[in-house]
Amino acid sequence: MEVNQILYMNGGDGETSYANNSLIQKGVMLKAKPILEESIVRLSLSSNFPECVKLADFGCSSGPNTLLLAWEIMDIIHATCQRVNRKAPMFQVFLNDLPGNDFNTIFRTLPSFYEKLKKEKGSEFERACFIAGMPGTFYGRLFPDCFLHFVHSSYSLHWRSQVPEGLVGESGVPLNKGNIHIAKTSPHNVLKAYSDLFEKDFTLFLRSRSQEMVPGGHMVLVVMGSTGKADSSSNQSCSIWELLGITLNDMVLEGKVDEAKLDSFNLPYYAPTIEEAKAVIQTEGTFNIHRFETFEVDWDCNIDDDMSNKGYSFGKPGRGKYVAMSIRVVTESMLVGHFGKEIMDDLFERFSSKIEEYLEVEEGKHMNLIISMTKNG
Ligand code: SAH
Repeated sequence: MEVNQILYMNGGDGETSYANNSLIQKGVMLKAKPILEESIVRLSLSSNFPECVKLADFGCSSGPNTLLLAWEIMDIIHATCQRVNRKAPMFQVFLNDLPGNDFNTIFRTLPSFYEKLKKEKGSEFERACFIAGMPGTFYGRLFPDCFLHFVHSSYSLHWRSQVPEGLVGESGVPLNKGNIHIAKTSPHNVLKAYSDLFEKDFTLFLRSRSQEMVPGGHMVLVVMGSTGKADSSSNQSCSIWELLGITLNDMVLEGKVDEAKLDSFNLPYYAPTIEEAKAVIQTEGTFNIHRFETFEVDWDCNIDDDMSNKGYSFGKPGRGKYVAMSIRVVTESMLVGHFGKEIMDDLFERFSSKIEEYLEVEEGKHMNLIISMTKNG
């Protein structure tokens, strides 16, 4: 099943919306900001800097992070132009995500975004900024040839285009029995199926962007990574997906989830190792890597962000709830499609307690890759 049909972050702005539960992704964006800044400054100082900068955010989702990123990029370009006495450009900002993304919520906030631009930067700046949605999968073409000057993607490229084929044995036996992703008990061919799909997907992403970008165009990608140990997201004793799998297994034991349903569910997610990501970029061959770095964030990264004046009206959650909710808002569309809506509250309450217990004794961390590149030419 193609991910287009099953994956979307929870929409709207309610308690279980992505908009209200994306502080971890915001924390990641903040950590990545110095490298983003470096890339954009370099673009702004280049000799063929355009009068209208066309930039795209791939996997923009729907929430406060979406326009924050657009703001940051324009802000850096603006400041750099002022510093070197150069006329500020116009901006065409394309927000890309899968068609099921809640674009309506983003579009509804555009008037206040333009108003803020006008108030803080002046009406000239506001008149020079044009924001548009670009729905569709980033594993394929979305823009004309030689069009984009800057490409950004944060926390999106670890989603695969589909659940890998080959997770079912010849006689129909599920190979990744009892797991929902790569876990310590997963056989090697499960890992290989995921890794092969990453290679295919990431190659397609780079090839598509390469055709869409102008020569010398810049790109910054932030993606969840892995150390290549037994599970695919860290070398700690348990990945967050393993913990969710264990929670579902508990529910199987209590007869609340059908065992065969669990055995046939696998997430369309894979976090590559440094080597895997580098190899794809080098083999694809049209990008020069300027920076390739890693950084870690805690599972409960940014929990202390001041939510009071940002429209978060649900009070400060405990660590378990905070982390569980961050996973719920990104996986619920897929879980509901497979297991049904009825078990969701129970599943995530249990998951929240599991995380709370786990974090009492272990550290929970996500490893991330940040890659800054330019297109050859
Ligand atoms: N960049 C945002 C969102 C991260 S969540 C932030 O930092 O907050 C990941 C987003 O990637 C989701 O909105 C998901 O729908 C999107 N996504 C996943 N696969 C995609 C694909 N193939 N094409 C476009 N968007 C995709």
